[in-house]
Amino acid sequence: MAYSEIVQNLRAAFDSGKTRNVGFREKQLQNLMRMYEENHTEMARALASDLRKHKQEAYVMEIDYLMNDLRSIILNLRDWVQPKKPEKTIVNMMDGVFIYNDPYGVALVIGAWNYPLQLTLAPVAAAIAAGNCVVIKPSEVSPACSKFIANTVPKYLDQDCYRVVEGGVKETTELLQQKFDYIFFTGANRIGKIIHKACSENLTPCTLELGGKSPCYIDSSADIAIATRRILWGKFINAGQTCIAPDYILCSKDIQEQFLKEAKSILKEWYGENPKHSPDLCRIINQQHFKRLSGLLKGANVAIGGDVDSADNYIAPTILTNVKSEDPVMQDEIFGPILPILVVENANDAIKFINARDKPLALYIFSTNEAVRNLIIANTSAGGMCINDVLGHFAVESLPFGGVGPSGMGAYHGKYGFDTFTHKKSCLIKDFNAVGEKLASSRYPPYSDGKLSFLSTVLKKRRSISLKCVPYLFIFGLGVASTLIVNCLRDDNK
Ligand code: NAD
Repeated sequence: MAYSEIVQNLRAAFDSGKTRNVGFREKQLQNLMRMYEENHTEMARALASDLRKHKQEAYVMEIDYLMNDLRSIILNLRDWVQPKKPEKTIVNMMDGVFIYNDPYGVALVIGAWNYPLQLTLAPVAAAIAAGNCVVIKPSEVSPACSKFIANTVPKYLDQDCYRVVEGGVKETTELLQQKFDYIFFTGANRIGKIIHKACSENLTPCTLELGGKSPCYIDSSADIAIATRRILWGKFINAGQTCIAPDYILCSKDIQEQFLKEAKSILKEWYGENPKHSPDLCRIINQQHFKRLSGLLKGANVAIGGDVDSADNYIAPTILTNVKSEDPVMQDEIFGPILPILVVENANDAIKFINARDKPLALYIFSTNEAVRNLIIANTSAGGMCINDVLGHFAVESLPFGGVGPSGMGAYHGKYGFDTFTHKKSCLIKDFNAVGEKLASSRYPPYSDGKLSFLSTVLKKRRSISLKCVPYLFIFGLGVASTLIVNCLRDDNK
């Protein structure tokens, strides 16, 4: 079926009002949950096929994550969809003031390959919850997961409202020529620009979940043994192909030595004498990325690791020292199991280094010194931060997850995902009450200084008076109303 026809059909389904029904959305979300329950083994198998992902990583980082996220959406949906009643001021005291949660319409979700199930299906769940119809485009770079989504989703989700389209650059380019009401993209910064450009053609709102070089600063107050363990886990999980993996370390020479000493023994404990034989290490997704990553090692000062095997897309967990900011490894997001360490004197130097570069997706600090932490938090910008650990902030569903500037725009997770796919439709409801009309009549021509002064006073005061003052305002309103009525009667009698 042509893409234009797919989008047209989804629009017709949306216009029928089907997805506005909350019961329908709940049913679809429950079906998605059933899909995970009945197919988790196949999901783990697809992840192993694409990335040689170990079962533990597959469940913790993707399958269980998706199920927990969905459970929370289903539990909270009835609450989230309720129109919100924001605080009112004196001006609208007598009116209804509401924010309705309106679905956008037909959304396009474009997934990435590194966590190919989680990064495609979590936004889809949020889009369904918000009442949208969805075109789902998994990444072609992880073919087993793409196939799984394409074959399995239609068995569980309503085909009039949710469609999977497989394909790569050609297909996505063609899809982007269609008019969507929302586009949610996860992927590289370079492609994010293409998506943003396509969105601008139709003024389509979008979320861009991009990447970047996420720095990790360690100071001498940190527990270096624990810090090293946490950093290495966050770096080498999924073979470093994680958007919020610590990209590089900033620390003093002394900390670098302690870090290397710890790292040597931890890596041996985790992956054995030859990490290549460990079942716990993922592989690089394809030859193109393997070549890019092994190229970064040429001429680099390898302190730990450095082994590569092209036939197996294998790169050992590798740590580089004597790294300069001009080195190739410091130019773009690494997105692989290579961890450079750059020496800085102190937190102020680290801040200067970070601020001289693109705003990162994540920023990590290892320090027990609150002054140092606050200094960095207050003087840097990043999509999100995690102190004394890495990746952890991603899993806190009450925190919005997203980038800033070059690392992305918009956010999701938990309620933020629902909000991302929801237009907040403002609505003011007035009645035809005669007293209210009289009070508001100062806005009508003929204008006069008296009316202007009255309106200015009311508008000036409206911010400083909250609804907590309602009883007093009511008495005040009655006073004003009766004065106005008396004046009117006087005018009428003249
Ligand atoms: P990618 O940008 O290469 O691909 C993402 C999607 O875009 C795929 O579905 C692909 O088919 C499509 N695409 C690729 N080229 C295109 C083109 N020219 N026109 C239209 N569509 C195109 O990204 P990736 O390689 O899958 O993922 C790696 C990048 O994504 C890294 O930079 C990483 O940091 C980032 N990322 C970010 C997050 C996040 O949540 N912020 C999560 C994962 C990955």
